[in-house]
Amino acid sequence: MNGIYKLSNPVKHYDWGSPESIPSLLNITNPEKKPYAEMWMGNMSLTDGTALDEIIKESPDFFLGPEVNRRYAGSLPYLFKLLAAEKPLSIQVHPNLEQANAGFARENARHIPLESAERTYKDANHKPEIICALTDYDALCGFRTKCEIQNMFRAFNCPALENFLELFNKDNKEDPLKLLMKKVFSLSDTIKEEIEIYIKENITNLCTLAPQYASVWNIINLFAQIYPHDAAIISPLYMNHIKLKPEEAIYLPAGVPHCYIHGFGVELMANSDNVIRGGLTAKFIDTKELFNIVNFHEFTPPIIKPDNTNVYAYKTEAKEFSLSVIQNTKETMRLPVLGPVILVVTRGTCTVSHAGGTLNLNQGESAFLAAGIENGNVELCGAFTVYAAGVP
Ligand SMILES: [Zn+2]
Repeated sequence: MNGIYKLSNPVKHYDWGSPESIPSLLNITNPEKKPYAEMWMGNMSLTDGTALDEIIKESPDFFLGPEVNRRYAGSLPYLFKLLAAEKPLSIQVHPNLEQANAGFARENARHIPLESAERTYKDANHKPEIICALTDYDALCGFRTKCEIQNMFRAFNCPALENFLELFNKDNKEDPLKLLMKKVFSLSDTIKEEIEIYIKENITNLCTLAPQYASVWNIINLFAQIYPHDAAIISPLYMNHIKLKPEEAIYLPAGVPHCYIHGFGVELMANSDNVIRGGLTAKFIDTKELFNIVNFHEFTPPIIKPDNTNVYAYKTEAKEFSLSVIQNTKETMRLPVLGPVILVVTRGTCTVSHAGGTLNLNQGESAFLAAGIENGNVELCGAFTVYAAGVP
């Protein structure tokens, strides 16, 4: 049992994926221009034909470390991904641990099959996540401030949405953000059509009259073309537009609505499939559950960015995972990450060595390192950028 394994990872070809980003990182050709949306590094990755979770099962204390083994019932607590969005993904929100537990039990009690389209909770876990950009990256995330939302609606100046500003009257008893979402979800087809026509006819005008919001108008225009008749095309009016530069990241706690628009990044999350959709999708939207889970508060995620050191650990409150970026020019360095680790090389070549052996990783290649080999004894050598997932 040497404890270091090169991984071979499943790729998801969802239609929103980029045909270029992942193939070019992996240095493979893609003549059919198939979308490569995600590459999953985790339990289902193969090490010489055997799934990683099967190998972990053989000796969980060694592979995960006794503490992680006990806390997460013998299973790797995170899923690490490359994610490359050419087109926007649906708006989504994730439950907290309590909500996920209750939701999973409730749907089990109602005997809704796990694979049913009506099923919202696939497991009893929460799904905090961090997305870190490898290229320029655009996302919508969290509610803008109420003041900003009113400014956006005024600047957009669409007659069909005129009465939205009334929602912010001080006399309203209910939270304006909740009222706003209710109103968005009850827009009639006629109003949605009026908004679409308005966007088509006014996009150029808007960019001239309110150029400070040009990127917002362009996103609304993009949404309207890809998801016609979807009320969430106006979501950039009430959600923050976040632009990440390479190596910058945002952490998404439970209850925060978000939407990845465009860009290539690494994403690290707790092992869960619990996604509640909130628009820009042809799939089932469970609006009742959406309103239970969404945190109706103004929230702008802080952008987490590395300082100028060659090892940077992104700070989040997640207990299941930690993300680090490691840059090296030449000298040998010790692996600065704890726990069961997955490394992926995004630039250059990295030689991983410890007492039991050596592994060469080229750009796009990834490896699993057992907690039991004591990562302090692992050396990395070469000129590279490596993203590392571990457990804090
Ligand atoms: Zn998410």
